[in-house]
Amino acid sequence: MSDDLGLWFDPSKCLIAGEWVAPSGGQYLPLENPSTGEKIGQIARGTGADIDAAVAAAEAARHGPWGRMSAAERGRILMTLGRMVLERVDDLARIEALDVGKPLKQARADAVALARYMEFYGGAADKLHGETIPYLEGYTVYTLREPHGVTGHIVPWNYPMQIIGRSVGAALATGNACVLKPAEDACLTALAFAEMAKAAGLPDGALNVVPGLGSEAGAALTAHPGVHHISFTGSVATGVMVQEAAAKNVIPVTLELGGKSPQVVFEDADIPAALPFLVNAGIQNAGQTCSASSRILVQRAVYDQVVERMALRYDALKVGRAMDDLDVGPLISARQKNIVSGFIDKGADLQIAGQGQLVSAPNGGNYVRPTLFANVSPGHCLARDEIFGPVQVVIPFEDEEEAVAIANGTDYGLVASVWSQNGARQMRMAKRIRAGQIFINNYGAGGGVELPFGGMGKSGHGREKGFEAMYGFTVLKTVAAFHG
Ligand code: NDP
Repeated sequence: MSDDLGLWFDPSKCLIAGEWVAPSGGQYLPLENPSTGEKIGQIARGTGADIDAAVAAAEAARHGPWGRMSAAERGRILMTLGRMVLERVDDLARIEALDVGKPLKQARADAVALARYMEFYGGAADKLHGETIPYLEGYTVYTLREPHGVTGHIVPWNYPMQIIGRSVGAALATGNACVLKPAEDACLTALAFAEMAKAAGLPDGALNVVPGLGSEAGAALTAHPGVHHISFTGSVATGVMVQEAAAKNVIPVTLELGGKSPQVVFEDADIPAALPFLVNAGIQNAGQTCSASSRILVQRAVYDQVVERMALRYDALKVGRAMDDLDVGPLISARQKNIVSGFIDKGADLQIAGQGQLVSAPNGGNYVRPTLFANVSPGHCLARDEIFGPVQVVIPFEDEEEAVAIANGTDYGLVASVWSQNGARQMRMAKRIRAGQIFINNYGAGGGVELPFGGMGKSGHGREKGFEAMYGFTVLKTVAAFHG
């Protein structure tokens, strides 16, 4: 397939108050194709002044047609937007593949998920309601769920469409006005989405997009006194800064900070059924997935068998250009390639059980070979730190007790899975593993926009996806009326 971006919008602009405008500082950032290292365009380097203008536009939208719109009308716009996204799935997939390096199949799945978020939150917009509370004689008490106001959305580069869908979708459905700061390495689909939202009839200012650097536009957004809620997905270090900035303005924050998610395979597991999940959950999106499963815990009796069969799958993995749509694409940037290669080097003294092959990897692309390490001790940095690349470790365990200790033995707690045919064991493990989502005899459950998602420990706090996100994007007001 051709490397032509074929854009139908100007990628070097910001969307503020419904207008496409140049960044106020007149500066731009280069866009690189991670598959080749070639420059493919430029995006706006938004400034603090652009963030000021975007926050002012969002505040104005709250008091204009957007703020007065019924929940049903908001929902209708989101559903229209979902249909428009579906019509452009192939265009969005191509743009994402070239900008972010995702193999086309994955990029397409992300675009379909974006549409699905619009359908889900569009349909849910008029189904969120407060409650009445039985109280003292002479009172009627009820609660109202109101939007926070202006919400800030800091989105990373690994799944731009899905993360915009889950956070901006829920925020708009509940009547907030949004300011979105996409990652500098992954802006194009955010801008495409904003252009479609405008065409779908979203009133001016309800969604503003300011591309730029995290340390400039991102920091300005999270510290802005006119913002009432921040949703952040990214690294722990940046998440801490975001939470500190939000604390100064005393506003709520949702943090989704990745993980070191385990899959626990017991000797009674259906191993053929587990195998594709064990490997795919580690190499999907070149391992650059917050919920990647980077630790495979296997009971001794089946340990050798599982390692051997995973290794065969690793050896067959083909790595190459996103547009060639192989098993694994490039990493997002040379910087990320250095981080991941550094981790692989740290495993020099470990057993490499299997490795994928580079089959179409032009010089200048950010490729690493997917690598499976066996017999890794739970204390090794490869088994504790988030690598964010196509690297998995397989760790043996003796019994349930040890499996729980290893599974809970990192700072993170985002996702986990349990592979076993024993129902009682499944239930025990689901209770004992510390993670925001537990899967039994599967991993990821197909991504499910309906399923609340978020972390424990350093994986973050707050829940996105499903109805739960709509509670997070609203604030509860209690009304107590005395009528005698
Ligand atoms: P960051 O956490 O720095 O970036 C995530 C988002 O935050 C981007 O939009 C970034 O913008 C923005 N940002 C950066 N600095 C600030 C700031 N001071 N204030 C507000 N926003 C800011 O991650 P990196 O891209 O640096 O990746 C480093 C590591 O983080 C990865 O190796 C991986 O381990 C982890 N990560 C985890 C993700 C997850 O899904 N949980 C997603 C991405 C990364 P910009 O990119 O423009 O700087």
